[in-house]
Amino acid sequence: MKFYQQSKDKIIEQFNVDIQNGLTDEQVSQQRDEFGENKLPEKKEDPYWKVFLKNFKEPIVIVLMGAIVLSLLSSFYSIQIEGNMESGMESLYEAIAIFVLILINAFLGFWQEISARKSLNALKEMNTRHTTVLRNGQWETIPVNELVVGDVVSNTVGDFVEADVRWVDTNELQVIEAHLTGEADAIEKDTKVINEDAELGDQTNMGFSGSTVSNGQGTGVVVAVGQDTELGNIAQMIESVETKPSPLQNTVNKLTKTLMFVAGGVVVFTIVAGIIQAGELSFDSIASVLSTSIALAVASIPDALPAVLSIVLTIGASKMAKDKGLIKSLSSVETLGATSYIASDKTGTLTKNEMTVVQYHANGQDYKVTGLGYKPEGEIKNNGDSSDSSVEKSRNFLLGAVLCNESAIQENNGEYQPLGTPTEVALTVLGRKVGISREELLENKELIRTLPFSSSRKMMSVVVKEGDKYTLYTKGAPDVLVNHSYGILKNDQVDTSEQERTNFLTTVDEYAEGALRTLAVGQKEISEDEATNGTVETLEEDLVITGVAGIIDPAREEVKESVRILHNAQVEVVMITGDHEKTARAIAQELGIVKDKNAPVIRGAEIEEMTDEELFEKVKDTNVYARVSPEHKQRIVKQLQKYGQITAMTGDGVNDAPALRIADIGIAMGITGTEVTKDSSDLVLLDDKFTTIERAVENGRTIYGNIKNFIRHEITTNVAEVLSILIGLLFFTQTVGHIPAATPTLTALMVLWVNMISDAVPSFSLGYDVAEKNIMDDGPRDPNESILANYTWSRVLIRGFFMGLLVYVAFLWAAHEGMAADQAQTVAFLTLVYGQLWHVFDARSSKTLFRRNPFENKYLVAAVLFAGISSFLVTIIPFFNLVMGTAPLEGSVYLMVLFISALPTLILSGIKELFGIKIW
Ligand code: ATP
Repeated sequence: MKFYQQSKDKIIEQFNVDIQNGLTDEQVSQQRDEFGENKLPEKKEDPYWKVFLKNFKEPIVIVLMGAIVLSLLSSFYSIQIEGNMESGMESLYEAIAIFVLILINAFLGFWQEISARKSLNALKEMNTRHTTVLRNGQWETIPVNELVVGDVVSNTVGDFVEADVRWVDTNELQVIEAHLTGEADAIEKDTKVINEDAELGDQTNMGFSGSTVSNGQGTGVVVAVGQDTELGNIAQMIESVETKPSPLQNTVNKLTKTLMFVAGGVVVFTIVAGIIQAGELSFDSIASVLSTSIALAVASIPDALPAVLSIVLTIGASKMAKDKGLIKSLSSVETLGATSYIASDKTGTLTKNEMTVVQYHANGQDYKVTGLGYKPEGEIKNNGDSSDSSVEKSRNFLLGAVLCNESAIQENNGEYQPLGTPTEVALTVLGRKVGISREELLENKELIRTLPFSSSRKMMSVVVKEGDKYTLYTKGAPDVLVNHSYGILKNDQVDTSEQERTNFLTTVDEYAEGALRTLAVGQKEISEDEATNGTVETLEEDLVITGVAGIIDPAREEVKESVRILHNAQVEVVMITGDHEKTARAIAQELGIVKDKNAPVIRGAEIEEMTDEELFEKVKDTNVYARVSPEHKQRIVKQLQKYGQITAMTGDGVNDAPALRIADIGIAMGITGTEVTKDSSDLVLLDDKFTTIERAVENGRTIYGNIKNFIRHEITTNVAEVLSILIGLLFFTQTVGHIPAATPTLTALMVLWVNMISDAVPSFSLGYDVAEKNIMDDGPRDPNESILANYTWSRVLIRGFFMGLLVYVAFLWAAHEGMAADQAQTVAFLTLVYGQLWHVFDARSSKTLFRRNPFENKYLVAAVLFAGISSFLVTIIPFFNLVMGTAPLEGSVYLMVLFISALPTLILSGIKELFGIKIW
């Protein structure tokens, strides 16, 4: 018999479940051994050795492998055929040196990839979903993969069902199972046995892994986990963190490929030029230019770009997570930096979500309440009168507020912990201040139905039975409730006059203008039949309003500063709230989101009336939306996107998920948000705070800026390397001093050293740079703009050209001075290395060298010192002299090279700084 054909008692018995206490730890491990973990198979990670070997597949490494083979052949030729031991050993050393450099490079690449993988796994871990389960008599939240068969789970609106369950208790439960059945509408669930055979979509007493709870609440017993679930039957693999390349990675991959073609062209050109110069096509003529060609190939392939880019993005993402912004895909890191519009919820994000009722109006009387926070201590005064009889007048309102409520407070050493939503906790605390508690009330009343709150209805109700009397209590947004009521309780009479209705709404407005959140309570007597069978629509009508509460929810102080920073960074901040328009405007004004007391506010009802074209016209000047339902959020985002705005939007409820999906950056609340919204988001705020969004935008800009700096530096130095060799090849056609014509400016191993050590290490540390001071002073970048736009190309080419030219000039100078070839090449080598090290400080500024403190980035300073000193050492250590073709120089020459190499950077940056030239 299938699970749905068995009674719930049978299921409970079959799985040996204690429905009051859930499984014990011991049972959990037994069940896990027997039925396995609640996990679908994940894509296997490459083993370490594969990651290491991957580095040998890079084009540059293949070129170098070719070079090793050639060196070995040449060594063999020299020793065996020519009998020239010295030249043979030189070639052999060269082969060994290239191999060692390849190994160093592979280790660097391996280390980068492993650290990126670690960060990514940590992010994945943080992204795991959680679910509520009853274990050892306690409800607790556990990661979903820890669920086992036999667990008792509780799911409420906004949750995913995380395994296959047989429902044993449901309350207005509705579930969407579109991923399995294709049916988009929510299906009502209950616990009734189904006797005949039923398709998946008709198994109404079952919940299936991956479904979303769209309404109500259900308790179920897990009957299948992991691969044994219906989802497991159809799903192949899951990837919890998206790893598909970001647009920037695609651009860079393309750029790298293009540059590789250029490199190929340069190499072919060199070989042809070499042959033409030699005047004949022979092995010797090719061999003589081969080493230079290899050097050129190495110099021109920006091999580090893609690898460094992905590690910088990943490490950026884990830095963001430390700052409480959990990113779901690498492309969001980039998009965040381009964000131009942030639409935020109010409650809990802009405000503290620590609610206290400070006044209320009930039965025609005004009451003030003292005592802030969740401590149930304070006084309630009606015109200064705090007597019991005065409070008693508002009893109906208080009863409704406390009964139509699912929250509680828990005392812990004199501290009161809220359990449930803060709005409801505020009402519970209000009741406790006058000795009314839900538990005590329910001793002689029975709660028979709960119609849960939804942010579209903006109401919730309960049906309470006392004796044979049934009462419906409803609470919700006052302006909504008033439309579902026929009168207002005043001095124990139901006043149905228009005047009283207006008075009531005026009170609500007054509360709202004082930035109070408002919540009205209503009630009505109903029949037994209505109590059990009535629908939400019929029940929540013809109410009598018993009162309205004014609830303070203080704005978060730090948000004001974040809003100021974002405005300065030309990022628009907008509040989209379900709350009352006047409350919304008052808080928006307090936080600086709007300046004017009369700033326009659009209400959800107005959006409903508008066509998309009308809304399009309005969105550009509106900063506050009130009484908005989640459905309206989607429309707002779509219109904003028509203006090309990169929109970040927050959401917490299950109905917010579609809007979050369309927003460029969907933001979910980590603490109060539902699992469904978290799943649809790009960024999860681990602390629910608005300030975290501002920091994430700043981090996004910083990371993008760092990548840009890194790419600029990398390409500039490549251009310099290529040009210094190419110019030599073209113009060094006569013997100068002791140096014969056609001697390359740099040896192949020098270029290799530059590329893999003295250039790679410092430029890598650019990826970790701190934010540029003015990063939040400029507007957001145009998301369609290429990373090399805005004079970046000209900057790269001009600077690269001067740096390359200087290297050749230094070589020529050394030749004229009568130095030997290896010494002149060493002069060129150091001019190039130090030129790059000067340039790296310029590259880290979007403006000029003089705009940034060079010591801010400790990694960079360390990397530059390492590169500078080690490059000096290879010129004086005999072993490296032999292998790399370097030679020791006189002290004064070292000093001169150190300073002369600064000239291109200092002069170009200086002119730029003085005259504001943008082109370089
Ligand atoms: P935001 O969208 O900024 O988070 P919000 O929390 O006020 O604002 P909703 O949760 O949609 O938005 O609430 C809308 C309105 O519904 C509130 O202003 C309040 O009047 C009413 N409301 C909120 N919570 C409840 C509840 N638990 N029961 C009944 N009514 C509620």
